[in-house]
Amino acid sequence: MDDIFLVGGGIGGLATALALGQNGVATQLFEQSPVFTEVGAGIGLGPNAVRRLQAWGLGQALQAKAFIPSQLKVMDAQNGQQLGCLPMAHNFVQRYGAPYLTMHRADLHQVLLDAVHAQGLTELHLGHQLINGQANAQAVRTQWLDADGQTMSHESQALLGADGINSRVRELAWVPQKLQASGHWAYRSLLPMQALPLAWRSDDMGLWLGPRLHVVCYPVRGGEWLNVVVLLEAGQEVQTPGWDTQRSAQQTAADLNQALQGSFSRLQDLVRMSEHWRAWALFDRSPLQTDKDMARGRLALLGDAAHPMLPYLAQGAGMAIEDAQVLALQWQRTKLSVEQRLNAYAQARWQRVAKVQARARRNAQVFHASGAVAWGRNAAMRWGGAAVMDMPWLYAG
Ligand SMILES: Cc1cc2nc3c(=O)[nH]c(=O)nc-3n(C[C@H](O)[C@H](O)[C@H](O)COP(=O)(O)OP(=O)(O)OC[C@H]3O[C@@H](n4cnc5c(N)ncnc54)[C@H](O)[C@@H]3O)c2cc1C
Repeated sequence: MDDIFLVGGGIGGLATALALGQNGVATQLFEQSPVFTEVGAGIGLGPNAVRRLQAWGLGQALQAKAFIPSQLKVMDAQNGQQLGCLPMAHNFVQRYGAPYLTMHRADLHQVLLDAVHAQGLTELHLGHQLINGQANAQAVRTQWLDADGQTMSHESQALLGADGINSRVRELAWVPQKLQASGHWAYRSLLPMQALPLAWRSDDMGLWLGPRLHVVCYPVRGGEWLNVVVLLEAGQEVQTPGWDTQRSAQQTAADLNQALQGSFSRLQDLVRMSEHWRAWALFDRSPLQTDKDMARGRLALLGDAAHPMLPYLAQGAGMAIEDAQVLALQWQRTKLSVEQRLNAYAQARWQRVAKVQARARRNAQVFHASGAVAWGRNAAMRWGGAAVMDMPWLYAG
């Protein structure tokens, strides 16, 4: 009954287990999958997230697996011309106290999992799906389904939902609010750096902006692989977020070739170099409106369960890591009850997260603009220089 239950063993759930453990708080973490899996794709971590990971003692483990891009170069996807450049590596360490890192998602997940194991304060329950729960003033009673089809009940003092975009914890205590289909798709691939022409083997992070699409590239796994993400406004109606398992590799490649017609030829060549693309339909929710959107009584949400966002600021996991740190901080306030701690967490977080959600949506319009809006965007980047591309409000926070 003294336990804190965490639902979901993704980046948000593991980060929260680790952060709470750093404050001496034991947790029980339940993950529905019988084994941990992470998507074979890259992830960018802003200095706001990296600073927190370093403070948890993960600096060396990250250094062994991550990549530090030297700069962010923004290009016009139609003609390949450079629009702007933001120095990142040393510049970010000086400005924000930590670098920007790019990683394979599985590596980040493993670094967190190893740290949770080493800390020894979290009991992991794989193959356990939360199916139901009821909270009252004394406790939260939850029902679980295990991998053998057995159901069981447990009681805890708090239930923390890190169970992603289709959160069951959210359904237990919040008014249903439909996920919003953006009509955008993310196509992801990893290419071995050795197999690429020299022009693509660089230390940069590349961002190519075009009408109704953009492309992001960066090295991962110490520079051995190039992560490529093509984000398209495909307009195809899908009901739920997830991988496009209905389409064959050939159909996916055909979609990409068609969408990139008229783009800079070198960009088209890069996309043709990969035979392995997977497409993910992008959904989000409207920005949070109040602290009650993140915590109610003995229940709280974090990461995508609380604030799913479009990946156009590359901060979904970053916000989950921030959530974890702020949530854990509340356990240093010994005089507060569990409800007060969760409430204080939500109050501290909701406005920042809402701003990030809103900016991610705005970036979708700016990145994919055409005509006069694109002209204005390009002019701002050319004349405003790095200052236009930097985000101190985000990275220093
Ligand atoms: C194309 C794309 C690119 C992105 N790029 C970036 C980036 O560069 N930088 C960045 O910071 N973010 C990025 N993101 C966002 C980031 O991936 C997510 O915000 C982040 O992974 C969310 O982590 P989470 O732990 O909250 O949720 P999830 O990773 O979804 O984990 C939820 C976990 O809960 C489990 N679960 C679900 N329901 C139950 C249940 N009922 N019982 C038990 N377990 C359950 C699931 O199995 C899963 O393991 C990107 C997202 C996309 C789609």
